Amino acid sequence: MRRTKIVATLGPATRETAVLASLLEAGVDVVRLNLAHAEATTHIEAAGAIREQAGLLGREIGILADLPGPKMRTGPIIGDEVALEPEQSFTLFASPHRAGDVTGVCTTVEGLAGLVEVGDEVFLADGAIILKVTGRDNGDVRTEVVRRGLLRSRKGMHVPSAEPKIRSFTRDDDASLDVALRCGADLVGLSFIRNAADIEAVRSALRAKEGDERKRPLLVAKIETRSAVEHIDEIVAAADAVMVARGDLGIQMPFEEVPLLQKEIIRTCNKTGIPVITATQMLESMTHGPLPSRAEVNDVANAVLDGTDALMLSEETAVGNYPVGTVQTMVSIALAAEREGQAQLASVHREDSDDPVSWAIARAAVHAAEDLKVAAILCPTRSGATARRIAAFRPRMPILGLGYDRETVRALALAWGVIPITVPFLPEEQIDAEVIPQALEAARAFGVVRAGDLVAVVAGGPAPRSGSTDFVRIVAA
Ligand code: PEP
Repeated sequence: MRRTKIVATLGPATRETAVLASLLEAGVDVVRLNLAHAEATTHIEAAGAIREQAGLLGREIGILADLPGPKMRTGPIIGDEVALEPEQSFTLFASPHRAGDVTGVCTTVEGLAGLVEVGDEVFLADGAIILKVTGRDNGDVRTEVVRRGLLRSRKGMHVPSAEPKIRSFTRDDDASLDVALRCGADLVGLSFIRNAADIEAVRSALRAKEGDERKRPLLVAKIETRSAVEHIDEIVAAADAVMVARGDLGIQMPFEEVPLLQKEIIRTCNKTGIPVITATQMLESMTHGPLPSRAEVNDVANAVLDGTDALMLSEETAVGNYPVGTVQTMVSIALAAEREGQAQLASVHREDSDDPVSWAIARAAVHAAEDLKVAAILCPTRSGATARRIAAFRPRMPILGLGYDRETVRALALAWGVIPITVPFLPEEQIDAEVIPQALEAARAFGVVRAGDLVAVVAGGPAPRSGSTDFVRIVAA
C-alpha cells in the first residue's frame, strides 16, 4: 500500500473523461485545479467530472483549487516577443493598455512607480531577464537592462523591493475563491503569500462566504516567496497544509538554496503535524517523453525520504503527452522509496503545542499500535485532526480517517498514509456510544482488517471536542 499521496494538476491533456478516469485509477489522490488558467465554467465542469469518476471508483478524491495570488506579470507585446540587450533602456509603462515593444511594456502592477526606488532590481520572464530601475516619470518606471533575454507576452515578473507592499488577497483572488467554492474544493491553494496575515485575509473572506465551518475548504500555503520562507513558522501555525512551490521559490531565492529549504519546510510541517506537498518539475521531462530522467527519479525518491506527505505533478499532467504514465511512474518511485523510509517511526514532540494532551495520546497510540503490530489504526474524526496527528508519526500500518462529513474526509486525501472513508452520519449524541463498533464495521467493510484482527481506535471524546485526541482503545475487529 502506497503511503505518499499524489496530487495531479488537471489541464487540457486530462480533462477528457476517459483520461481523467485513467488518471484517478493510476493512483491520484488529489486533483489540482489551477484557477490562474482557464475559465470558471471549465473548472466547475471539471470538478463535477472528478466527483463522478471518484464515485465510480468508490474513492474519496480531494480537489485542490489554487487561487492565482498577486503574481506580477508583464503585459502583451506586439508580435509576442522582443529581445532585450544589455544596457538598453526599457520602460515599465503605467498605462495597463499600452502594447509592448522594444521600448517598454505595461505590467499588472498598479502604481508600480510608487513601490520602487532607483537602483532596485526587476526580474522579468520568471527571472531570466534582469532590469535596474534608473528613474520614475509620470507613473512610468525607467530601467536599464542588466541581463539580456527574450521577453514574451504576459510573462511572470518579480520585484523584490515592491512585493512586501502589495496586497496579497486580490480582487481576482476573491472571485477565484467563489469559483473554488462552486467547484466544491476541499483545499484552496494560496499563491504568493508572505506571512500569516495573508492566510488570515483568505480565512476571513472564506468565513464571510461560507457560514458552515465544516464546509469551508482547508487552506494550503504555497511557499514561493522569500518573505514566506522568512515567516515559515507563523505560516505553518496558521495554515492547514503547506506546499513547497519550487518553481517560483527557485526564482525568488537562489535556486541552489531550494533543496535545503525543501528539507527544512518538510521538517517543520512534519513536526507540526500538517500535511506538506512537494511540487514542481518532479517529472518534468515526462511532459514530452515516456521516461523520467534519472535525476528526476532521485528527486521524487528524495522528497519521499525527506518526509513529504504528497508529491505534485503540474505540466506533466496538465499539458503533457504522457499524463497517466507519469502518475504510474511516480507511484512506482514512491513505493520503492517508502520501503526505506518505513524503517522507523518519526520522532514528533509537540509538548510545545497548544494541545499537548492530544499529541501525547496520539504518540502513545502509535507506539502501542507498533508494539502490538495491530492491523490498522482507526481514527473516527470530526475535523480530521486526529488522523493527521497519527500520520505525523509515520506508523507502518494503514491509518483509516473515518469521518462523518464528506468535506473533512476528502481533505484527508492529502495526508500521508491516511485512507479517507466517509461513514454514515450518526446523531451527535450517539457518536460516543457507537464510535468504536462503527469504526470497526467501516474498517471490515473497506477490507483493510479481518474479523479478529487487533486494531487501535484513536479519537476525540468522550465529550465531542472537535480537534482533540482523547483516547486510544486496542480492540479485536
Ligand atoms: C510553483 O511555483 O512551484 C507552483 C506550484 O506554482 P504554480 O501555481 O505557478 O504552478
